[in-house]
Amino acid sequence: MQAELIAIGTELTLGTTVDTNSAWLARTLATVGVEVQRVTLVADDIGAITEVIAAAWQRSPLVLCTGGLGPTADDLTREAVAQATQRPLEFHQDLFDGIAARFRSFGRTMSESNRQQAFVPMGARPVPNARGTAPSFIIDEGSRALMVFPGVPSEMKFLVETELLPFLRNERELKSVLLVRSIWLSGTSEAEAGEIIADLMQASYPTVGISAKAAQYEVRISAQGEDPAQVEADIEACAAEVERRLERFLMDRDGLAAHVLRRLTNRSASVAIYEGLRGAPIYNALRSAKPDLVQALRGVTIHPLDQAVDRDAAESLAIAGANTVRNNWQASYGIAAVPAQVGADGFTDVCIVLVGKDLQRSFTRRVELKSDDALGFIATAALDLIRRSLEA
Ligand code: AMP
Ligand code: MG
Repeated sequence: MQAELIAIGTELTLGTTVDTNSAWLARTLATVGVEVQRVTLVADDIGAITEVIAAAWQRSPLVLCTGGLGPTADDLTREAVAQATQRPLEFHQDLFDGIAARFRSFGRTMSESNRQQAFVPMGARPVPNARGTAPSFIIDEGSRALMVFPGVPSEMKFLVETELLPFLRNERELKSVLLVRSIWLSGTSEAEAGEIIADLMQASYPTVGISAKAAQYEVRISAQGEDPAQVEADIEACAAEVERRLERFLMDRDGLAAHVLRRLTNRSASVAIYEGLRGAPIYNALRSAKPDLVQALRGVTIHPLDQAVDRDAAESLAIAGANTVRNNWQASYGIAAVPAQVGADGFTDVCIVLVGKDLQRSFTRRVELKSDDALGFIATAALDLIRRSLEA
């Protein structure tokens, strides 16, 4: 089945908000075998929205719109759908009562404009929105369907999972499933890992691809078919082969930070951090892990340098910093990242030092501190240093 997505909002066409809804929807639809053929962004302009929806409604069996369902004057999706599908808006008392009840439960008063949200195009099935006030609706003509969602990502996702996917499974009898498995790597490069599994990446089923993010690598294995058990088994077999060949680089599924914290926790070990960079990259990578794992993080000292130093001095400072935090916080390990002076090319050597009982390891990561990825690279290098020491 093919689908078309329409993301509505001037913040999207202006570029002040990135259209993450369509990307999420496309990925999610793929899991039930629905293929997105076209994605359109359109500003809050009734003529433009109507035109885009009318064209989509003519050519696509499934049209999904996000945004513009709110109560304000720039929320025009309801009206545009009514015009594009030639189904005048009708008032639904039950939707109105639902919106009123939600306002009461929050102790807020409902404004007159919220009444507008209780209108849906004639013949459409109203879908209450348990996560917000803007109700959604589905127009189902059997051979084609259109559904609208609130722009707020959490509300949109909730309604997709609770309403759209069941609708597609039950009313459209979608049989195909697409399953995806990710395997995470660190301590390698995209090229090196790619060579080791080159033959698997060339095969057309299952599909295997690698993507890189801040020196962590995701091998994605996906397969589509009608028999979920078979698809699952095919992915499993492929994943086992990938894991066998790349064993020395494997990380936990939830990423390097969780991997390192879990290994530390399993050994009743802990780490303290000395950050010589204001952005505190190592701390930021670790603190987002699950609460039960963060216990392995004893403490952090953030101490940006007040003057530029050369590489050797940065390393000495990192060694001193790692030992100081390790002692102060009584941690099994101390890790530090201290930058040297920025070079003429804009790049900086960041000295990363790990200390533990009878252990001291250094590593230098050269990064362009101004770039968006720099802190991620430093964090990955530091965590990888801990990972390799734990596994040595
Ligand atoms: P709306 O439903 O148009 O009132 O949108 C409510 C909020 O949801 C907007 O202010 C945006 O922050 C967010 N939003 C709307 N559309 C999108 C989209 N396509 N992707 C991500 N966020 C969105
Ligand atoms: Mg809007």
